[in-house]
Amino acid sequence: MNLKLKNHRLLFLGTLLYFALAFVNINFAMLAMLCMITPFILLFRDKRKTWCQGYCPRASLFSKTGTLPLARSRKTPASFIKGDVKWYVLMYFGMNMLIMIGTTIRVAAGSMPAMDYPRLLLFFAIRTELPQLLPTPEVWEWLIHLSYRFFSMMSTTTIFGLILSLIYKPRTWCTICPVATMSDVALKQQKKSGRSVGQRKVFD
Ligand code: SF4
Repeated sequence: MNLKLKNHRLLFLGTLLYFALAFVNINFAMLAMLCMITPFILLFRDKRKTWCQGYCPRASLFSKTGTLPLARSRKTPASFIKGDVKWYVLMYFGMNMLIMIGTTIRVAAGSMPAMDYPRLLLFFAIRTELPQLLPTPEVWEWLIHLSYRFFSMMSTTTIFGLILSLIYKPRTWCTICPVATMSDVALKQQKKSGRSVGQRKVFD
């Protein structure tokens, strides 16, 4: 990856651009897959959390909001760092992915209507379509459904991460982020098989 991008002060704009593009066409929400796949490609290439340590646009955003004057910067709860919270978040993420895939298959098969509005935390429907500068043809309902699911997941976790950044250390979300949890498991497995291992820490 281009080293000039590493910890670039404008990386957070990537997150803002992601949400802005959803108003151009909701299918841009599928770009969320890049944030899910790239960390693991880099992890297996570098044997460390390259993405988390310098390229994640969401972490960059949390670092910005966490240093705003209204941010409280409290100590990250121990349950986030050493407790089970990260496993609950991972379970939520897994459930979310299963629902996303299952419902998209059902929409494609014509056995349920597409979700054409965002949801927060899976349960709270915001029953309004986002304004679209370039609307998607109605025939691709499954794609619209999948895109809104991705958009909902990214919105939920970003809002949650932003709230945490304003209460606790800026990158508190990173202690429970499913990407980091799965990365840690993969690195531990590598350690067991005699390779190097990375450590998760709270970034200020
Ligand atoms: S832990 Fe999650 S939010 Fe934090 S840097 Fe890694 S991928 Fe980004």
